[in-house]
Amino acid sequence: MIQCHKCQTENTADREKCQECGSDLLPGEGLSDRLSYIVYGIVGGVLSGIVVYLLMKSEIELPDCLLISPQLCLLATIGLPIMGIASALRKTPLYQRYATRARRHIELDPEQAIADFSQALELAPEKEQAGLLKERATLYEKLGMEEEATRDELDYTSSEGAYGGGRGVARFFGADDDVYAAGRGEDDRKAMVAAGRVKALGYCSKCGSVVELNPKLRCPEHSSPKPKAVKFVLPDEVEAAIPEVLNEYTKERRTRRNVIIIVALVLSIPLSCCLFSIAMRGFSKATPTAMATASRIPIISSPSPTQKPLSTPEPKIILPSPTSVVGEDFTDASIMSTGWLQDGSLLVTLHVPSGVEGIYHAVVGGNEFTCEILEDYPERLYCHGKGVKSGAQVEASWYQEGIELPVYETIFTVP
Ligand SMILES: [Zn+2]
Ligand SMILES: [Zn+2]
Repeated sequence: MIQCHKCQTENTADREKCQECGSDLLPGEGLSDRLSYIVYGIVGGVLSGIVVYLLMKSEIELPDCLLISPQLCLLATIGLPIMGIASALRKTPLYQRYATRARRHIELDPEQAIADFSQALELAPEKEQAGLLKERATLYEKLGMEEEATRDELDYTSSEGAYGGGRGVARFFGADDDVYAAGRGEDDRKAMVAAGRVKALGYCSKCGSVVELNPKLRCPEHSSPKPKAVKFVLPDEVEAAIPEVLNEYTKERRTRRNVIIIVALVLSIPLSCCLFSIAMRGFSKATPTAMATASRIPIISSPSPTQKPLSTPEPKIILPSPTSVVGEDFTDASIMSTGWLQDGSLLVTLHVPSGVEGIYHAVVGGNEFTCEILEDYPERLYCHGKGVKSGAQVEASWYQEGIELPVYETIFTVP
């Protein structure tokens, strides 16, 4: 029910105008609000003016870290009344109208208040959402809706405009307020994990899987390394969130691997130049003998050997670096089939369209798998091993012998 702010008639939630008096059920700010903006602006301006006057007269030396300076106060003396008038004249943003109506209904009809806060949150710009989240969380808590309240509180800790008061203090003392807010957010999330209201999930590379983290945000079994792709969820969302964390981790890892490949490529350029110059130096030492032996026709014999090495070493030296990092061509590879063998081990068949050669092994869900290539099927890599559970979603990586980076990675569900 929406109560009309003019005649107090109760209207159904779908109405835009009051059924009794016809006034707008989602009004902008009233005259008194608008007048108060002008008053605050003028009062603020006058106070700043007084500070400017005092500062100029007393000539006090202020420490640099404080943000008060005569120039800044002068700016405020002129700026605040203008801002007050501008606020008084502007059209009230829609999200604010919903927020105002929500506040008016907290006692009258809490359900209407929640609906209006939710609408306001959807419409509000990002930096205005923190305050609304906090208000809605308080209301949820009052109504005994613990789960919803926790979700809002959790969202609050990472929202852009959170910890406004503390941010102001941090800025005032010349600190970075974003760093301050991030720290406060992390402390609050840790406290929520410690209280059992929120669960933290992350990928532990030692466990080889997604684990529930302790209040210090570490794997309960391994205090290092730091878990990757950490995510905070409500207790009953844990199941659904595990694959999401795994996906996020795989994505992060892929990005990291691409960065390594790019760095390796960039480093390989000076290296190949270096090798090239060594090759050239070795060659120029060899040329005099060639010239000496071919003394009869020196003009023809000397340029021809120099030209050949010029064109050949270059591609030969540059090419191996990307291939040695990536391994064989696994770009179109995919899992062809998975199945259980009689001895209880899992067989995973990887299809590599461009063919596969060499010695490989795989890591499936943290378990070592041995791989074989059958003569009749040069496009398939048969890998088998034990330790994975039926129905589990696992991460699988294939490695070529002697190369640390996986040649292929994927996630699949064990049959
Ligand atoms: Zn009315
Ligand atoms: Zn662990």
